[in-house]
Parts: sequence; structure tokens; C-alpha cells
Amino acid sequence: PVRVRFCPSPTGNPHVGLVRTALFNWAFARHHGGTLVFRIEDTDAARDSEESYRQLLDAMRWLGFDWDEGPEVGGPHEPYRQSQRMDLYRDVARRLQDAGFAYECFCTTEELDARREAARAAGKPSGYDGTCRTLTAGQIEAYRAEGRPAIVRFRMPDEPITFTDLVRGELTFSPENVSDYGIVRANGAPLYTLVNPVDDALMEITHVLRGEDLLSSTPRQIALYAALADIGVGNGTTPRFGHLPYVMGEGNKKLSKRDPQSSLNLYRERGFLPAGLLNYLSLLGWSLAEDRDIFTMDEMVAAFDISGVNANPARFDLKKCEAINATHIRQMPTEEFAAACEPWLRDPHAPWKPEAFDAAAFAELAPLAQTRLTVLSDITANVDFLFLDEPVDDEASWNKAMKEGSDALLRTARAKLADAEWNAEALKTAVVEAGEEHGLKLGKAQAPVRVAVTGRTVGLPLFESLEVLGRERTLARIDAALA
Ligand code: GLU
Repeated sequence: PVRVRFCPSPTGNPHVGLVRTALFNWAFARHHGGTLVFRIEDTDAARDSEESYRQLLDAMRWLGFDWDEGPEVGGPHEPYRQSQRMDLYRDVARRLQDAGFAYECFCTTEELDARREAARAAGKPSGYDGTCRTLTAGQIEAYRAEGRPAIVRFRMPDEPITFTDLVRGELTFSPENVSDYGIVRANGAPLYTLVNPVDDALMEITHVLRGEDLLSSTPRQIALYAALADIGVGNGTTPRFGHLPYVMGEGNKKLSKRDPQSSLNLYRERGFLPAGLLNYLSLLGWSLAEDRDIFTMDEMVAAFDISGVNANPARFDLKKCEAINATHIRQMPTEEFAAACEPWLRDPHAPWKPEAFDAAAFAELAPLAQTRLTVLSDITANVDFLFLDEPVDDEASWNKAMKEGSDALLRTARAKLADAEWNAEALKTAVVEAGEEHGLKLGKAQAPVRVAVTGRTVGLPLFESLEVLGRERTLARIDAALA
């Protein structure tokens, strides 16, 4: 049975790279009817935070992911927060040492740095040189007596390590490039290098799908699995690995956590739909079919195949992400769209008074707004004319729309609107006729009307907007513009 894991460290805000990793693991698990384990890798007390942990959970729920084991749902391998498993890791580290797979290393940082420099200067590999590999009991005693701190180092085998990456195919790492590495700090704190494979072994993970940045740790982990199997930790199988391609941002640089474009919160605040964002993130390294970039998560799950993931770096393209989101917005049932807009419309920070929001009026314009929005937060500017006492005051729009002769046009239009039947078609006829009297085509004639009534030069179809706004308020706004 397939068992995969999503195991972020709760540092900082969730970012899109993390979401892509979660998505591919989730899709893989669901496609194979497997199990998704959600594990929190919070062993770095200096960098992890409770705030970030809560944000992670909240983000996973918002995105619509479900997991079979992990925080909030429990499971047979509890606890799923590594900070609560420290004793277990210390015990494994001890057993690895007892069995000779790991050893105490007394080299100081200064000594390591100096030897690394010397190796580099001599054109030799600059990883750990094995100084403490073969210390005698006497030497160890002497170091201890000196009060030298010791880390625990894992002893890498002296043969090359080969594995078949699910995305990249067969890869071989030679021993001179993968040196012995630390697994427990001098203060006794177990490191990621140890705890991640230990938990993967104990939780019987079958497939590890993660970012390419972790590729260099894979040969180390494979060696560690063999040692864990030897000392009886886990069920003795090594997971298969698939490394997802880098995501590139602006200027063909790796998208970094610090890039504003990578912050998940930003997408939530702008009103991306989880379905739209996830659809786009699916395309970072994968595709459903050559000619299809719009699909649902159900469709993705049905089609997802790790061997279809491309090893080449994927480019993050915000414009495309927005376009895909816009398509998902258009495809929603209208009632669902209207409900999805409510958090913005009922936001106490919306530009209108909360009691001014009128759900029935909004419902009339919702279908028109739905075809025009890229992100849900755009709804505010599209309908604020309905809920504000006065239209927004935007000088640039005003100057753009109000030309010489606009006053005269507005007076004629006002008179015709005052007499018109109050439906979009009749209102349009009124403005067309007013324009004709002044030698103006509809586009030119409606611009001053729009800015007088809505404060803007662009927006929803004007006559439907006026119909919903009502005769009284429309005429009052034209009068105010003429005053
Ligand atoms: N906690 C690690 C990270 O967030 C997980 C890496 C892995 O998937 O092995 O980078």
C-alpha cells in the first residue's frame, strides 16, 4: 500500500513551493488509494513557531486537503509532531552508535573549517575527512577529560550509492561526495538528518516526493535506512524517492520563501480560489494533457502519475495563475460565486458601512461580475457604487471621462433617464439618444454617465448597473456631478 508524507517545518508563512509539494503528495496518495501522513518537523526550536504551525494547518484546510494520519486526526504512529518524539530519536541515535553506524566526533568548528579550506586549496573533496571515525577508547576519554563537546556523526559506507529517482531516473553518488554527517548536536538535539528518515522508517513511508533542494540528502538517508533496518527500526524497506523540479521566479532565479509572490497568504487575501491556485500549481512540473491546462482536483487525482513529472525547472507565471483562477471563477455556479464574494462584501473594512451591503442587489449583478473577475477581492471595486453613499472620488477617472461638452450631455441624459422606464434596455436607449443629440457615439456618451454614477471609467455593464442602483440614486448622482 502507498504511504506518503507531507512533513513541513513550521517556520514562517506557508509558501507556494510547500503547497506544490503537499499537492503532489496528496494527489499521489489519493490516486493510489493510499495514505497521506501529515507530520510536523518542528525539531528546530530556534526557528519553529506555534503561530506558523497553526497557519500550516489552516492553510491545508483552506486548500481542501485531507490527510489520513497527523495533527487533528491522529493515527497509529502518534504523535505526529517531532518535538514530541525527541526521546525516541535519542534512543535511536544511541543504538546507531552502539552498533557502530555512528560515532562521536570531537572536531571543533574551527578545526573543521581549517581542514575544509586546506582540502579545497588542494583540490580535494571538502566534506568531513573522517578524523574521528577511528578514535580509540583512550582518545575518546582524553577528549572528554578536556571537556570537548561531541556531536554524533553517521558513518557513510565506502561504496557508491545508486537509486532510481521516480522523476530523474537512475542517480549515483560516489563516497567522496557524500561524507559522514552529523545526526545529533553537541547539546544532544537530534537533527533533521536523523529524525526525518527515522520517522519515515517508523511510519512505513513507501514514497518520498519532495523538492529537488533535498536531492543531496537522499544518498545519506538511503545509507541511514540500511542502518535502521539493521538495528530493527521500522519495517526494513527503503522508500522510493521522487524529487520535484525547482520552481523559478523572476529573472530565472529560484522562487524563494522571501519572494512576495510565493506567500500563500497573499493569494488568499487577493481571493484566489483554492481550486484555481491548485490547478495552477499542478502545472509546475506536471500536466494533465498537452492541450489542457484547466481541470479540477478530482481530474488531477484521477490522472496523476509521478512518472509524468518533468525534471526540468518550472517557471512560476503569476499572469497564467491569475488567468486560470479567472476561469475557475467563471465556471462556478453563480450562487456559489456570490457566496464566495461575501467575505469581501461583508468585511468590516470594506469601504462602505456594513449595514449598507444589500445581498439582493448584489445577487442581481453577481452574474455580470462573475465573468469579469480575476480574483475575488476585485469584487469590491466592481460593486462599491451600490453600497457607498456617494461614488468613489477618483480625480484621474473624472478627468479622463469629463470632456468639454460633458455637462451638456449629462443634462440631456439626465432628462431622458428621468423619463425612461427603469430597465437596462430603456436606459441604454436613453443614453444612446442623448448621445445622438450631441453627436456622440454610445461609448463616448456613456463615459460621463458612468463616472458620475460610479466614480470609475471601467466597471460592470453600465445599464444593468443603473437598473440595480435605481432611478432616485442615479439621478441624484448625476445632479451632484452637474452641481
Ligand atoms: N521538514 C523538511 C522540510 O520542510 C522535509 C523535507 C523532506 O521532505 O524530507 O524541508
